[in-house]
Amino acid sequence: SVKPSHYRRIVVLGAPHVGKTAIIRRFLGDDGFDEQYEPTTEDFHSKLYHIRGERYQLDILDASKERDFPAKRRLSILTGDIFLLVFSVTDRESFTEICSLREEIFTAKSKLTKSKENRQLPIIICGNKTDLNTSRGAQHSDICQDSVLFEVSAKDCTNLEEMFEALALLGGLPTETR
Ligand code: GDP
Repeated sequence: SVKPSHYRRIVVLGAPHVGKTAIIRRFLGDDGFDEQYEPTTEDFHSKLYHIRGERYQLDILDASKERDFPAKRRLSILTGDIFLLVFSVTDRESFTEICSLREEIFTAKSKLTKSKENRQLPIIICGNKTDLNTSRGAQHSDICQDSVLFEVSAKDCTNLEEMFEALALLGGLPTETR
């Protein structure tokens, strides 16, 4: 069984087409990489994950379909322990979106904790599609300097295991903020 402290609810957010579905499918164990995914209606996934002999249960919610439903997205944010904010290294605007999503998370969570000072929310920023990019580096301004950044490719699986391990080990929020 999984220890109560080893449950993680991960909320995935980001602009359309940055590869959120591809990343989640890879993590869930898809061997193939489809160029085109069918839009899913079931966006909630669960996986048991072993790290150094410990079992973790990662519940993963792809909240991007809630893009046009702010109230619903806010609810997803409130119930999340850990946030994976995905952009594409080939799309600068998708990076800008990360920064506003981050503000949205801080706003939602700080209302709960009543402390506006707490910038320590568990957020990992993910730059996907590194296989396509030839000149990155200049893209990552220091707007999001407080968060860990992973550069990954869902296509060739670069850095995905490392990123999900970091997500699991990031831990949850203090219980009073859940
Ligand atoms: P979502 O809208 O964020 O869920 O994005 P999808 O997962 O549907 O991916 C959008 C498109 O980008 C699809 O055509 C994917 O095949 C493609 N894609 C996703 N990840 C990668 C990647 O790491 N490298 C490349 N080259 N294409 C990717």
